[in-house]
Amino acid sequence: MRIARFAYPNGMSFGVLEGDMSGEPATVAQIEGHPFGEITLTGQRWALADVRLLSPILPSKVVCVGRNYVEHAAEHNVELPKEPLLFLKPSTSVIGPGDSIRLPVQAKQVEHEAELAVVIGVAGARRVSREHAMASVFGYTCGNDVTARDLQRADGQWTRAKGFDSFCPLGPWIETELEPSVLEVRCEVNGEVRQLGHTKDMVFDVPTLVSYVSHVMTLLPGDVILTGTPAGVEPIVAGDTVDVRIEGVGTLTNRVVNLD
Ligand code: ZN
Repeated sequence: MRIARFAYPNGMSFGVLEGDMSGEPATVAQIEGHPFGEITLTGQRWALADVRLLSPILPSKVVCVGRNYVEHAAEHNVELPKEPLLFLKPSTSVIGPGDSIRLPVQAKQVEHEAELAVVIGVAGARRVSREHAMASVFGYTCGNDVTARDLQRADGQWTRAKGFDSFCPLGPWIETELEPSVLEVRCEVNGEVRQLGHTKDMVFDVPTLVSYVSHVMTLLPGDVILTGTPAGVEPIVAGDTVDVRIEGVGTLTNRVVNLD
């Protein structure tokens, strides 16, 4: 099932995407309340073209994993971590599909990082074992861990470099039925492929990450884990269009603009 959050002329809601004959999402059926647990539809439907998709979830926190693909660690000449390397992006960095990534004046080198985003379900996760971790997962969406690379180097820790407003595009929707270990992860800038990786090459897989993070901090419903980026990160500049494509999920598209 594909769950979106969307704005329509008189409000905003969660909805279930329904496909046309070819299976492409065409309409969105409004959900009563939130999409966790049993879903009740209101009976209202809109054509996808008549609504605006929003970030599919508003997480209380976005937990990120650094250096989780072998080749990405190699391109930055750093050793592979022996345990997952965690950092946070603030909830205020989240934007939705079609929103603009706004380049801050402080940064001279801002880069894309296409990542599989894990969305935590209604039970949350606190000290869950690896074996039980997948029961805490609601679904998956595309994420972009936008990073000011120059500030990341300069600061020695990553809060500023990763935390600017608009530095966490998520979307376009959440796919709830997906095996996370067999997915191609791709980033295109202006239609040109920059990153092409595969989730089978993660150093730590999704159940390991959910379990590991949940032994550090309680994951609340809707919280997001960004699972690391494959090789090929490169700068983005104003005017660029960035597509994060994840097999079985869809494409998250954002334009890049200068913050004025
Ligand atoms: Zn990242």
